[in-house]
Amino acid sequence: AIFGSERVNSSGINIDIEHEWAPFSEGVQRHMTRQWKKGPIVGGQPVETAEVSNILSPYRRQETVGTMNGAGNAEVEMALDKATHAFNRWNRTDVSQRSACLERLADLLETHRDELVALCHREAGKTIHDAIDEIREAVDFCRYYAVQAREKFGAPMVMTGPTGESNELYLSGRGVFVCISPWNFPLAIFLGQITAALSAGNVVIAKPAEQTGLIAARATELMLEAGIPDDVIHLLPGDGATVGGRLVADPRIAGVAFTGSTETAQRINQTLANRPGAIVPLIAETGGMNTMLVDSTALPEQVVQDVIHSAFGSAGQRCSALRVLYIQDDVAQRIIELLKGAMQELRVGDPALHETDVGPVIDADALAGLERHVEKIKQEATLIAETPLSEECADGYFIAPVAFEINRISQLEREQFGPILHVIRYKASELDQILDDINDTGYGLTLGVHTRNEASACYIEERLNVGNAYINRNQIGAVVGVQPFGGQGLSGTGPKAGGPHYLYRFATERTRTVNT
Ligand code: GLU
Repeated sequence: AIFGSERVNSSGINIDIEHEWAPFSEGVQRHMTRQWKKGPIVGGQPVETAEVSNILSPYRRQETVGTMNGAGNAEVEMALDKATHAFNRWNRTDVSQRSACLERLADLLETHRDELVALCHREAGKTIHDAIDEIREAVDFCRYYAVQAREKFGAPMVMTGPTGESNELYLSGRGVFVCISPWNFPLAIFLGQITAALSAGNVVIAKPAEQTGLIAARATELMLEAGIPDDVIHLLPGDGATVGGRLVADPRIAGVAFTGSTETAQRINQTLANRPGAIVPLIAETGGMNTMLVDSTALPEQVVQDVIHSAFGSAGQRCSALRVLYIQDDVAQRIIELLKGAMQELRVGDPALHETDVGPVIDADALAGLERHVEKIKQEATLIAETPLSEECADGYFIAPVAFEINRISQLEREQFGPILHVIRYKASELDQILDDINDTGYGLTLGVHTRNEASACYIEERLNVGNAYINRNQIGAVVGVQPFGGQGLSGTGPKAGGPHYLYRFATERTRTVNT
């Protein structure tokens, strides 16, 4: 079956075409020196709180992007109270009206693209390509879930039964959904979770990542402008443990959508299990120890292009990113040589420049963690290549893309969320062992396979526990409605974001039987 064929994904902008690039770049420039001042939004109103933090740009530490007020206990309580009261009304609102709000939101995101791209650069350190993709994906989520909701929450499903009885099955919202989103997709995942929850009839309290509250606040203003009622969406930026912790422990909530680390997802799960009240779902999308397997029939140039993209694109700050590259020994040397050359060509620096391939990582903690890993792995691995950093990188949280050769995946304790690639050579006879090693990590998110032997691709794919398998291409950048995204095991619960089953987990089902 072809799903979602009545909708097309946003085309974004092609920055290599002068007449698209020039006006777009001019628009973005207007927002590049602005200062934003944002905070919690409860009941449609911005709330001033005592806790204020300066938001600094990840690529120029001395540059402020604005200030952010953090929510405290009073805001959490107010949001829970308003959201709880709003649920029945929003849940009974016709699904076509809810979907129309999301489609208006998609249009507003497109008309505000310049400002949102500027914010993605300055608050999240995104390159132009990534920032444009970010807005595009957010738009796609809005339109995709609008269509999905109309299909699934419209007319009830008629069930066949005995004569003299009518039987129907229908879906509705669950209640107050808490959406906890990450900084690496500050608009797309933020809005992806929220629009799914809203389209299904839930009301939402959103807790965005501390690093990217400004983008989240701007997106919340646009949701209100799009007609989402002011008691149906509330934004609570602030400290994870205080705000997120309190929300998740509250008996009034009906579900949690979370994207972030595996450890936090496990903590949320525990809190949900121990709190009083209904048993509620957790939809978690977490990390990965993603691998790519390259056999001796693969096309080396294509492999290297896809490795560069998958491991170093977005500075490796995607949960889908390639972490461990396995290369069959007879082609390993050639591919490693090509990889070294390609890594010298990468340009790391100011994300707002057209020619930049790799921007900064998000903050000082992220940088320190990655540097610690590089120091440690250096002791036990062989350095393959390190991309040189330009002088401008001294001002920001930059780390040089780097590749090491290691022996076993078990040398890596945890996912490293940055531009660090580990390479392992293997012999054909070791294939089954490495497939076991990969499964033993417990993660199961993305897989890349490069081979011209279709049977090999099937063999590998069937044996590995992964959510998204990509054959003979890069393994990042899943497209809404095209590559539904999400993993298994330590990588998350599913269902897949941007896929036809996602909305079910945000819903409750009712069967209605009438004796006619
Ligand atoms: N969906 C994104 C991709 O396919 C990754 C999402 C994430 O990093 O959380 O690259």
